[in-house]
Amino acid sequence: MSNYFKTVPTKEGFFGEYGGSFIPPQLQEEMDKITDAYFSISKSHEFISELRSIRKHFQGRPTPVYFCKRLSEKAGSRIYLKREDLNHSGAHKLNHCMGEALLAKYLGKKKLIAETGAGQHGVALATAAAYFGLECEIHMGEVDIKKEHPNVVRMKILGAKVVPVSHGLKTLKEAVDSAFEAYLVDPINSIYCIGSVVGPHPFPMMVRDFQRVVGIEAREQFYEMTGELPDNVVACVGGGSNAAGIFSAFLEDDEVSLWGVEPAGRSYQIGDHACSMKFGTTGIIHGFKCKVLQDEKGEPSPVYSVASGLDYPGVGPEHCMLNEKKRVNYVDATDKETIDAFYELSRLEGIIPALESSHAVAYAIKMSKEKKRESILVNLSGRGDKDIDFIVDNYGLPE
Ligand SMILES: *Cc1c(COP(=O)(O)O)cnc(C)c1O
Repeated sequence: MSNYFKTVPTKEGFFGEYGGSFIPPQLQEEMDKITDAYFSISKSHEFISELRSIRKHFQGRPTPVYFCKRLSEKAGSRIYLKREDLNHSGAHKLNHCMGEALLAKYLGKKKLIAETGAGQHGVALATAAAYFGLECEIHMGEVDIKKEHPNVVRMKILGAKVVPVSHGLKTLKEAVDSAFEAYLVDPINSIYCIGSVVGPHPFPMMVRDFQRVVGIEAREQFYEMTGELPDNVVACVGGGSNAAGIFSAFLEDDEVSLWGVEPAGRSYQIGDHACSMKFGTTGIIHGFKCKVLQDEKGEPSPVYSVASGLDYPGVGPEHCMLNEKKRVNYVDATDKETIDAFYELSRLEGIIPALESSHAVAYAIKMSKEKKRESILVNLSGRGDKDIDFIVDNYGLPE
């Protein structure tokens, strides 16, 4: 795959047949403005040097690549982690939130608006808003507000306004609709900041570009440590932003196998998993075309995962294209494998991973059995502090 970033996406935001923009005309006008601004401002020397300085001094980048000695001995292959859990605020999400907020500042916007499910995107965006002195409004379903209490408190401490959404199922989908409505009330002074490589153009491209730092750092760090490139790179896939970030640096290295891990949840029955790539069919969700878990009428199916950051019925358009081109292998890990990996990494390495990231660790452990001579670089997208009470209450502590 050569010349990749020069040819993908197209001007209209298509990755193969996926992506694009399927939204009302009024919203399209605003998206076009953001696209134009992104292409002019984000390529300027001033923008790039400010973002670089933020990454170094505020976020604490570069995050390290770490060799898991004890886990590798037990699993069989050589397992390395890109430590996005050490990125400020505890996950990779701040990488694109700081980029989006910096763009907002250059555009003279006063307010950042977004939805959040588990609250991770809300916390990252509230962090970025505090840094830049911007207002922040996070729309969140009432069900999620009850479930994710600590993140709601974090957002409020950071100065964000949390807007409860009380219609429909009161979860992520309704929160997205509510955030879009709020944005359309005043698109001059506000900007909508999406939480993954999803939504209408330019978001899948823009979020991917802001996450590319993960892959660029990791490729260089891995080479410096080992004198070669990894045989395999593994990342969990919800919407697909952390995976897009780390894969991006290896797409043109044909000898590196790429693995995106979806949540297989409790079973492969509808409502028990969120394997959008594996079981989805082509459709439109939230203004873009991708593989969607949907019924015959095109209504998104209910999804489930033990990791609330992964339970999305769609998946980023670039991933859909990379799947079709067979450049990335999309696989999955069950809740049980994920919980086992969560404890394994905690106890063998002293690193408590996020449940989302534990899916990638679980698959790395699983593939180790057949790849004893190979190296595996896992994107550890976040830390697990947010998950500890849930895990211990629901699964207990192992011996
Ligand atoms: C939100 C989240 C994810 C899933 O989002 P992607 O866009 O698929 O990366 C993964 N890991 C962590 C820690 C998250 O907070």
